Amino acid sequence: MQDFDLLIVGAGPVGCVIAERAAYLMGWRSLIVDKRKHIAGNCHDRYHDNGVLIHSYGPHYFRTNNPRLLGYLSRFTSWIPSNYLVKSQVNGKLYPFPINLTTLEMFFDRKLDEVSAKALLEELAVPNQNPANSEEYVLSRVGEKLYRAFYLGYTQKQWGMHPSKLAASVCGRIPVRLNRDERYVDHGNQVMPAHGYTRLFETMIDHELIHVMLQTDFADIRGIFRPRIGTVYCGPLDQYFSCQYGKLGWRSLEFEFRDFQKEFVQPCVQINYPNDFDYTRSVEIKHVTAQRHPETVLSYEYPRAQGDPYYPIPSAESAQLHNRYNLLAEREQAENDVFFAGRLAKYRYLNMDEAMESALANFEQICARHGINVEALQGH
Ligand code: FAD
Ligand code: UDP
Repeated sequence: MQDFDLLIVGAGPVGCVIAERAAYLMGWRSLIVDKRKHIAGNCHDRYHDNGVLIHSYGPHYFRTNNPRLLGYLSRFTSWIPSNYLVKSQVNGKLYPFPINLTTLEMFFDRKLDEVSAKALLEELAVPNQNPANSEEYVLSRVGEKLYRAFYLGYTQKQWGMHPSKLAASVCGRIPVRLNRDERYVDHGNQVMPAHGYTRLFETMIDHELIHVMLQTDFADIRGIFRPRIGTVYCGPLDQYFSCQYGKLGWRSLEFEFRDFQKEFVQPCVQINYPNDFDYTRSVEIKHVTAQRHPETVLSYEYPRAQGDPYYPIPSAESAQLHNRYNLLAEREQAENDVFFAGRLAKYRYLNMDEAMESALANFEQICARHGINVEALQGH
């Protein structure tokens, strides 16, 4: 059995970034284990039976405001421009979503400009300087009618909970615009890896000092490997501690893939269904992968209480339990050099860019414990 400097649990973006930095900057040897059959974590993409490139775990739209992160990732991929356009189906009509000037004009059936739209929203909004939950947040931005049409049903379906029970940050992710910008998110850089995410991460960890064992659960190898520097754990936080205080709540999804013998079925990559169907959204990822293919695939997302952990539940109860596990994690890091990284171990909803930024910070932390200043090595 080889000696390893790092044992990394999870071959998702976070595990891959830490292994790459460790190999490239420090010459450290890493063993990455993942219980799935593939690398790239939830960013994994693959070819469907009909040859169409699909995202295995929901649509992944890369965006970042951090040019350094973009520069770092550009070592492993080239990029194509993105078009993250989403529509919401309400009363049989497709509206631009997030809500923008066009949405307001269509919904209220009148011509508006930025000034009159602002006045309209002020009239509709339920004033609240400090919204305590997602319902109060949305009401304070757009008022009752738009809340009921675009948010209430979707949020209830997605979370199995009323928006008044969810943190304001859940619906706070969605902007409201007074212009005609139809992009889903506001970030300065919105691009897609030219050959997909799996290829990006394969290239990232293609290094003689990085070894990968797939279909290997941490539980089955725990204690077997004794890494020289430490363990990076990217699995669920509670599971590391055998759920001794109880389980942290996660919302899951089931994905249904349907193929069609047509080039395109939808007008844009994503359609949200706040009030129709059991699924929340249908995704035709070909719109953003830019693959040219005579056929297409749509994925439909059904929210579930059980299954793979996708979304930490942002409620007061889970925050309390999370704090208790965090104390155990801090002790484990101090005593046994186990570093908890990524969205499962942090129990935080992190977009890819945030997850990888946090991985770079974790790597600096690991080095700092060994008296190494990574800043001095950066740029290599
Ligand atoms: P993950 O990608 O979850 O990887 C963790 C890995 O650890 C997994 O491969 C898992 O199998 C492995 N693992 C867990 N437990 C064990 C164990 N016990 N033993 C061995 N291996 C284990 N981000 C965006 O920026 N844009 C988007 O559009 C976007 N859309 C998303 C849509 C959905 C439906 C979801 C769920 C997420 C989305 N994200 C998006 C977020 C993105 O997926 C994450 O930021 C990213 O995957 C986090 O990387 P990670 O390495 O922390 O975790
Ligand atoms: N949301 C909504 N209506 C929509 C889309 C989103 O009410 O049409 C709410 C819902 O509560 C969701 C949150 O806004 O969980 C964040 O949406 P986003 O699309 O960012 O969710 P993700 O892509 O992370 O699933």
